[in-house]
This record gives sequence, structure tokens and C-alpha cells, in this order.
Amino acid sequence: MLIPAADYLTYAEAVALYNDLREQDIIALVKSAGPPTFPYGEGMYYQLWIEETEAEAARETVEAFEAERISLRVLRCPKCKAPDPVPSPSPAWWKRLFYAGTVLHKCPNCNAEFPV
Ligand SMILES: [Zn+2]
Repeated sequence: MLIPAADYLTYAEAVALYNDLREQDIIALVKSAGPPTFPYGEGMYYQLWIEETEAEAARETVEAFEAERISLRVLRCPKCKAPDPVPSPSPAWWKRLFYAGTVLHKCPNCNAEFPV
């Protein structure tokens, strides 16, 4: 049975983790995930799935990867944790005032707005 090893990866992260696991002879399955309405037909982020029997062997690699990923501080939505929020094109004037000194970002997954 396949189980999810990592979630909410950017494409680059998914490839990096896939290669790390590959070195241990663990072949992961990369799936895209996200809203099905996305215009390009692909998900907004990626998941890595591995065989349940290989979970124990993969655990250290995945944990090391997760730790490094946190230290890289990839911009993520505080609400749903999806990567790559985009700067809001034209926030309302009162939002610009309220969030002065920061840039309002909008999550492409759940549309939450938050300052960065
Ligand atoms: Zn979100």
C-alpha cells in the first residue's frame, strides 16, 4: 500500500526528495495535488508517496528533508501551508496602510491574504 511521505512540496522540493530517496533504492511516486480547477490542469503542489514497507527506511531521509525545508523558509500560506503565495496585485488602500512595510501575499490554494 502506498502512503504519503511528504506533502505540500514545490516541484523542486519533490524532485530533491525523490532523488534523496532514490539513493536509498526507494522509488517514490510523485503526485500533483491542489484544486482541480487550476487552469493548467496540474495541482499547485506535489506529494510524495512511498510503499508502506519502505516507510521505516525512508523515515530518516524524509525527516532530514523536512528539517532542511523548514530552515529554507520557503514562503508558505499560514492557513493551508501551500507553497508559493503570490504578492497581491492591488490590495485595498486601507490594507496597504495597515500592513505598511510588508507585502500582502495571496495564497493560490485557499485565497487567504497575509503580510510577508
Ligand atoms: Zn492557503
